[in-house]
Amino acid sequence: MHILLANDDGYLAPGLAALHAALTPLARVTVIAPEQNHSGASNSLTLQRPLSVFEAREGVQKGFRVLNGTPTDCVHVALTGLLEDRADLVVSGINQGQNMGEDVLYSGTVAAAIEGYLFGIPSIAFSQVDKGWEHLDAAARIAREVVERVIAAPPALEPAAPFLLNVNIPSLPYEHLRGLRATRLGKRHPSQPVITQVNPRGETNYWIGPAGDALDASEGTDFHATAEGFVSLTPLQLDLTHRAQLAQLGQWLERN
Ligand code: MN
Repeated sequence: MHILLANDDGYLAPGLAALHAALTPLARVTVIAPEQNHSGASNSLTLQRPLSVFEAREGVQKGFRVLNGTPTDCVHVALTGLLEDRADLVVSGINQGQNMGEDVLYSGTVAAAIEGYLFGIPSIAFSQVDKGWEHLDAAARIAREVVERVIAAPPALEPAAPFLLNVNIPSLPYEHLRGLRATRLGKRHPSQPVITQVNPRGETNYWIGPAGDALDASEGTDFHATAEGFVSLTPLQLDLTHRAQLAQLGQWLERN
């Protein structure tokens, strides 16, 4: 079993080191991570310049491959030329902060897993619900248990294709976590307004504001499960086609 491990918080992030330590007893783990924090990078590829990779020489990161690009670049480069052999599983995280509801569209953590999935490899993204790395040990233990279960008995999810799992872990001590729940994505309110600042040259600058609060946090959602203390596992798909509107759109085209 060969696991490719990536993240979006950058190769020095505690969540990556914790996940690496948790997975090493289970499999051969190759780490490739961005040099800088690329949270919110989504599925972006770097196409304007070449990419370079170095190997970290010390600390808990020793042996990690570090790439000066995005999370998607990392997994893409690893799977299309850097790795000598194919990965059996792509794992991403542990992210500092939740990736629930529409977050999955912006997340670099989820994007790294998506890149594995696009190459036909089962992939899992792990995130801690709260920022600050509190109870990271518990999150890493949960991640190890999830990966252990996946290796022992891969979920035979139909249609036959690799799975893409988005996992959110409440920032709680291990004993307070209530178990694992299969969930759907909830929905968020629109993002909060940008924060404006005037810079020393008198120009107005904008900081992207925080994500909106949960709008649909009803039973069965990732928001609901994690608020109740459960670890949330959401199976994702990438086809954004609105199937219910497809026929209607065809009819509209014929009529108008
Ligand atoms: Mn991040």
